[in-house]
Amino acid sequence: MHYDLHDGRILTWALEAHAATHCNLRCVQCCPLSPHLPAWTVSPERLGDELRTLARVLKPQVFKFTGGEPFLHPDLPALLDVARASGISEQFSVTTNGFLAQSAPDAVYERLDRMTLSVYSSRPLPERSIARITERCEQHGIYLTVKRIDAFQQLTPDSPWASEAQTREVFARCWLKTRCHLVHQGRFYLCTRPPHVETVVRREHPELPALSEVDGVSLDGPELLARMLGYLERETPLETCRRCLGSSGPWAPHAQLPRGAEQDRREG
Ligand code: SF4
Ligand code: SF4
Repeated sequence: MHYDLHDGRILTWALEAHAATHCNLRCVQCCPLSPHLPAWTVSPERLGDELRTLARVLKPQVFKFTGGEPFLHPDLPALLDVARASGISEQFSVTTNGFLAQSAPDAVYERLDRMTLSVYSSRPLPERSIARITERCEQHGIYLTVKRIDAFQQLTPDSPWASEAQTREVFARCWLKTRCHLVHQGRFYLCTRPPHVETVVRREHPELPALSEVDGVSLDGPELLARMLGYLERETPLETCRRCLGSSGPWAPHAQLPRGAEQDRREG
């Protein structure tokens, strides 16, 4: 993968930050593993620092608040303000399941350029809520995308890949590594998986390496542009790819985990 530069900044498709890692839904095969993570929200001050640093070397077409469910953050307007002030992008978006978005304060809608509404067949948002969100987006000039999702792609393999060849093939075919870049707790990642797979896997295997450290670029330290380019254009898989199907997994009907269900412990 080759990335172009403009004014010393790497041009990318998108950059995400998790406003919250927890969620009010429990989708099976949730990409950032929200149903299995402790509640966590990002602080506006920390995110502002990270985005100002990244904005010197990175220029995504759009910056997205994702999660988890972003509307669980207690101060989404403050997050949007620090993100816009950082200069990281010209477009600011939020991706939501919609259950809290319909009644969110105007202060959120006033600060958004785009919204992606994911409507899941296993827990459908009522049509009247979709209509209300659509109306509010129109009032505020927000470009709304409604995604109706009735199937999910398995992301977690039954066991870690045994061979290097399998891991390389999954990585080579994975489109998430160019579309789902993440900034999270002081590091930049090719995708949303490393910090969250680490949290889940190390509960049972604390001896395993910290995936967030081996698979992410620290925003601290010199030569960030060179380190970011080398990382983005790598041909070697992440360590996390050993525990991921990327975009190669089989499809299944969308479903919710039962309340309180433990994760299917197939990783190791
Ligand atoms: S709504 Fe999104 S973040 Fe929440 S559990 Fe489902 S896939 Fe994960
Ligand atoms: S861990 Fe690897 S295979 Fe999985 S989404 Fe990230 S880059 Fe793709």
